[in-house]
Amino acid sequence: AKNDGKGAYHFFEAALDEEARRRRKLEVDLRSAIREGQFEVYFQPLYSVAEQQIKGFEALLRWNHPVQGMVSPADFIPLAEDSGLIVPIGEWVLRETCRIAATWPNSMMVAVNVSPKQFASPGLKQTVIQALSASGLPAERLELEITESIFIGNVKRTLETLHSLRALGIRIALDDFGTGYSSLSYLRSFPFDKLKIDQSFVRGLETEASGFAIIRAIITLAHALGIEALAEGVEELTQLDVLQREGCDLVQGYLVNRPVPAAAVHELIQRFGVE
Ligand code: C2E
Ligand code: CA
Ligand code: CA
Ligand code: CA
Repeated sequence: AKNDGKGAYHFFEAALDEEARRRRKLEVDLRSAIREGQFEVYFQPLYSVAEQQIKGFEALLRWNHPVQGMVSPADFIPLAEDSGLIVPIGEWVLRETCRIAATWPNSMMVAVNVSPKQFASPGLKQTVIQALSASGLPAERLELEITESIFIGNVKRTLETLHSLRALGIRIALDDFGTGYSSLSYLRSFPFDKLKIDQSFVRGLETEASGFAIIRAIITLAHALGIEALAEGVEELTQLDVLQREGCDLVQGYLVNRPVPAAAVHELIQRFGVE
């Protein structure tokens, strides 16, 4: 039994080393990924429950690694964030997304994720201005998705940045709402355009009474503040039914469609959208 324990320990240690090596290697590869054209932006529809049509898309980054194949953003975004590479990567995503969205019908908006480090970087506003002017995408059609974690730290500076971005005419959504740093006071300090209800609450809809209570509370809160509510990770018709009954404005999830490459967007717009 003693040997077994020791063997298991060494095995565990070796597995940790292996994981650390894999992460280091990924970080090195990440540095060249933009240059090598290994990134691609996918798009997932944001669907209006009342109008039963697509109002826009969220841009979701994909990394086609030459050896490992598709690497999930859940794996490389944290690496990019830690190493600071998220800033150039985020700039690329903004430019590429605006370029593509400018070819869509005028009514279609596009949402881009902005990580905390990218949000705090001094060049963000300039990057947005350049991405808009180079693509010709009207500012009103661009939405940035930020998370509650940007309020950890210098709240005054965060609010200044939010207001200066808003002054460009773009929209700001609060992503993963309810999972992060939970003080509701910042909802009074800044008029967000949209609250995105985290998919963990949607998943709890059928199984937990609390999931339902939280969803109802967030939708009520959003509407009281004049903000749109969007539910993430909607996979089942039964979930959509509940969300519709509760007056949720928008849904996003595999039920409507998975994220697709840019080339497949026009077909989705024809199927679910306006002309
Ligand atoms: P997120 O912003 O919360 O994006 C939603 C995630 O949920 C996406 O994962 C999407 O593919 C997934 N999803 C959508 N519908 C469903 C569903 O019905 N069921 C389930 N189980 N999942 C669904 P993805 O694309 O893997 O992205 C993961 C996270 O990586 C994103 O979470 C976001 O935080 C980050 N991310 C993705 N692209 C970017 C980017 O360009 N910049 C930054 N900074 N972060 C990004
Ligand atoms: Ca998001
Ligand atoms: Ca989210
Ligand atoms: Ca998330």
